[in-house]
Amino acid sequence: MILNGFFSEISDVIFPTVCLACLRVLPSSPPECFCPECRGQITFLTGSHCPVCGIIFPDSPSGDHLCGSCMENKPWFTSARAAVAYDGVILDAIHQFKYGRNITTGAALARLLSDFDFEDLEWGIFNAIVPVPLHIKRLRERGFNQSLILARALGKKHGVPIDFSLLKRSKLTLTQTGLDKNERGKNISGAFIASLPEKIQGRNLILVDDVYTTGTTINECAKTLVQAGAKRVAAVTLARVL
Ligand SMILES: [Zn+2]
Ligand SMILES: [Zn+2]
Repeated sequence: MILNGFFSEISDVIFPTVCLACLRVLPSSPPECFCPECRGQITFLTGSHCPVCGIIFPDSPSGDHLCGSCMENKPWFTSARAAVAYDGVILDAIHQFKYGRNITTGAALARLLSDFDFEDLEWGIFNAIVPVPLHIKRLRERGFNQSLILARALGKKHGVPIDFSLLKRSKLTLTQTGLDKNERGKNISGAFIASLPEKIQGRNLILVDDVYTTGTTINECAKTLVQAGAKRVAAVTLARVL
């Protein structure tokens, strides 16, 4: 947790001087994270989508519509949105940030996320932003919660306060990598507990995480908050697996 204050301060001032992906020198203005070529490889998630989970339908003639998965199993969150696809230069940058503990990359990704225009998200209706918590053991290993860094940038940009005290991770789960959606659901079930119900009941909350893979983590967080009395829970992630 020690690094969090530090991160939130420096995210305002530090910008990479070289492209996060290819290390080519960047012009000093406008501030960018990637050179034009690498930026061109990023898939920004815009266009027709499922209004609930946010999955993109490329070239859909029918516009926005519920996806099969949300029709079959209605999630606990009202909407989940992501800025970019989790692949290529974004995947590498997120790994540098989380596992390589690269501060500059984290600050740059936070800026990329907060600059993204989530067209159908009304920030003004939310009472608080809730970063998806790490288990205390994982937090100590990593030294920071990547979701909190991203949440702080979004909160500052959209004027929504951050509250990381509402949700705790009580169970140290195995990595979700390599598990299918069912196994992920079982692995994460009961992993979170809500605290301070008086700050949850009747409130509109927005969860923030780095990556949306199958949605099981976000859904479990949303379930925990809704069962504790939240009126509405939405989610924003930096990236999404397509
Ligand atoms: Zn580049
Ligand atoms: Zn959906």
